[in-house]
Amino acid sequence: MLSSAEILIVGAGFYGATLAERIATKLGKRVLVIDRRQHIGGNAYTEQDPVTGVEVHRYGPHLFHTSNEEVWNYLQNFTGFTSYRHRAFSTYRDKVYPLPINLATICQFFGKRLSPDEARSLIAEQASELGDRSPSNLEEKAISLVGRPLYEAFIKGYTAKQWQTDPRELPTQIIARLPVRYTFDEGYFNDRFQGQPLDGYTAIFEKMLAHDFIETRLGVDFFDIKASLPEGLPVVYTGPIDRYFDYCEGELGWRTIDIEMEVMDTPDYQGTAIMNYADETVPYTRVTEFRHFNPERSYKSGRTLIGREYSRFARRADEPYYPIDTRKDQEIYRRYLARAADEANLHLGGRLGTYRYLDMHQAIGAALKAFETVFEPYFEGKPGSLSRPA
Ligand code: FAD
Ligand code: UDP
Repeated sequence: MLSSAEILIVGAGFYGATLAERIATKLGKRVLVIDRRQHIGGNAYTEQDPVTGVEVHRYGPHLFHTSNEEVWNYLQNFTGFTSYRHRAFSTYRDKVYPLPINLATICQFFGKRLSPDEARSLIAEQASELGDRSPSNLEEKAISLVGRPLYEAFIKGYTAKQWQTDPRELPTQIIARLPVRYTFDEGYFNDRFQGQPLDGYTAIFEKMLAHDFIETRLGVDFFDIKASLPEGLPVVYTGPIDRYFDYCEGELGWRTIDIEMEVMDTPDYQGTAIMNYADETVPYTRVTEFRHFNPERSYKSGRTLIGREYSRFARRADEPYYPIDTRKDQEIYRRYLARAADEANLHLGGRLGTYRYLDMHQAIGAALKAFETVFEPYFEGKPGSLSRPA
């Protein structure tokens, strides 16, 4: 089956597809891409919902944003982008507030008009319990950013539902993803480049993989073919790292999401794409109404599709979505990395392969970097290990 392939890429998500495209286009090498799912695109996969005609993000809502010009320019080869700018809201005790936390959220929450300076000093006072200590976990980081009252309203309950892990055990980076602003700018992301792909995410992957030197086989699990691979064939693996090593160093903590899709008998269910629910008494974390990601499209159906997200710990048979990354996880991960370094033909990449909370632009950026620093030299016959991190 692999007679002519010069490299095997496991996983047709952004990391695998970017590397496949670069290796085929720039180096003229034959690439075999496999995915155990029946479609390309990994977790960014989208398709048209047959009932409403809306583009649905099967594995949860995906918003493209980056400040990395190289990644942005690279993607222009495969898609244009709409002018969509993401805004989100949070429902807390039956009231709706804008997210991320900005001057409008602060004024509304405290029920008074505050200038940026007044809001800053109010939050500084409410964050003062940390003293001079620099925050060492999610809870401390959140309090340092927004003070305890806003933390308890908008972050504590949501994070408890999303992670089911003591926020004092979670890394600070999770919350550092969200901006906090002392202006009325309500955009969710700060990045220079933002938008949704004109024809959806899957169309990007179709173009990336449409190269004569790339063969894509779907419904193929790497572990079913591993034993029959030609000796020495380089392998890029973008599945979960603990699964690759058959969990020999222990299981890493992952979260997965169950999305309850429902067609609602109204053209507009919530007036926005994403509504978060901060109260712990509401069992889901957020509701996505997919049609709002594409306000430029018109739909004939008078109905709309929504998805409610329920987060839980992933078991082995589940799709792992989010690395939990507690201190214990970090130790286990280090042991797997040491094992990977001993495998000369193996390159681990992507969100699951490197156990990192990567956004799409970061997965693409990491693949572009790996292409330059690892794969170009490798195929030009320069010594160096494939396992060297990009
Ligand atoms: P994946 O897309 O996960 O691809 C890995 C592929 O490997 C999968 O298709 C899998 O089936 C395949 N695979 C695994 N094991 C095997 C095996 N044994 N054999 C064969 N194939 C295998 N990013 C953003 O930038 N913006 C967002 O708004 C955003 N929202 C997100 C929301 C959710 C709910 C989730 C889960 C992620 C979100 N992301 C978002 C992150 C985004 O999904 C990732 O950055 C991106 O998918 C990473 O690409 P990847 O190639 O590393 O991994
Ligand atoms: N978060 C929160 N309240 C919210 C939104 C986010 O507490 O209303 C926290 C939560 O811990 C979450 C993290 O911020 O995991 C990152 O949020 P983001 O929206 O980036 O999550 P993702 O898109 O990865 O699901």
